[in-house]
Amino acid sequence: MTRRRGRVRVPRATARLGTVLMLGAFALGACGSETVGTGADTELEGREATVAVEQDGMVIATSFSVLEDLVSGVAGDAAEVRSLTPLGAEVHEWELSPRNFADLSEADAFFYNGYQLEQWLGQALEVLEDDVPRVAVAPESGWPTIPIRVGDLEGSPDPHLWMHPEAAARYVEVVADALSEIDPERESVYRENARELSGELRSLYEELKEEFAGLESSRRVLISSEAAFLYFADAFDLEHDGIWGSNAEEEGTPDQMARIIDRIDELEPGAIFYESTVSERYALSVSEETGVPVRGPLYVDSVSEPEEDAPTYQAMMRHNMELLLRELR
Ligand SMILES: [Zn+2]
Repeated sequence: MTRRRGRVRVPRATARLGTVLMLGAFALGACGSETVGTGADTELEGREATVAVEQDGMVIATSFSVLEDLVSGVAGDAAEVRSLTPLGAEVHEWELSPRNFADLSEADAFFYNGYQLEQWLGQALEVLEDDVPRVAVAPESGWPTIPIRVGDLEGSPDPHLWMHPEAAARYVEVVADALSEIDPERESVYRENARELSGELRSLYEELKEEFAGLESSRRVLISSEAAFLYFADAFDLEHDGIWGSNAEEEGTPDQMARIIDRIDELEPGAIFYESTVSERYALSVSEETGVPVRGPLYVDSVSEPEEDAPTYQAMMRHNMELLLRELR
């Protein structure tokens, strides 16, 4: 978006007022597409033309791309929303890049998931200025947690709440509450965007539930690399397990492999799935041992690149549903 490249940084206090700055066209340089003609100014076109640039200036940092998508849906044009973890990268054990330090120091607010999804959270919070609001969206959502069932983090709340579309709708409401507090002038915009988006997510839930209803009970088994689909499985009534419990732990250990092979013998799934942010090689090893085919990717910890199958939260959920129904039937 040209808005991003052409954005002019304004002091935070001004940004929060949602000021429309009047800038001389010369100041816009290469960002011509942001120039807004006023019609009456036609004769002034050129160096003296004065244009209005809607300059909100809010920069919002989010911890990963799924949250970036949901926050963008609420913020609309009122903010530039950035994800610290890049598309396709592993969110749990991400290491902050130099770019991330800049993102955090420029941020007017920081939204993260919480429940230990971001193992690097402490470092990010250290970089953030003290007066910058930070919001742990998953705990704030009030959505009931499901404990991680296996591995080093067994018993801790599983952090992937967003995989239940109704929980994602609650995320959206948390974001709207927070943005309304940070930038009260635009509260009506945030509330309206959130109302629309959470409505879409609740419809998405109904739509996917109906699709899954056609799947026979003996076929309702979702085995993935990371057992990140507990909330998804809860939403759509699937049996679920993974090679490991959380991407925060060591992946593909002999104990994990032996355990999942036993589970597969017991559950007889139609396929084993890998996720877009992990290597498929562990699923392939399990497949060699069990004869169950490998399919993927499922999306959970990141949305896809724009030109791929799952560039938004809603596209990611539909993609997962279609892949599962095709492979498990
Ligand atoms: Zn994960």
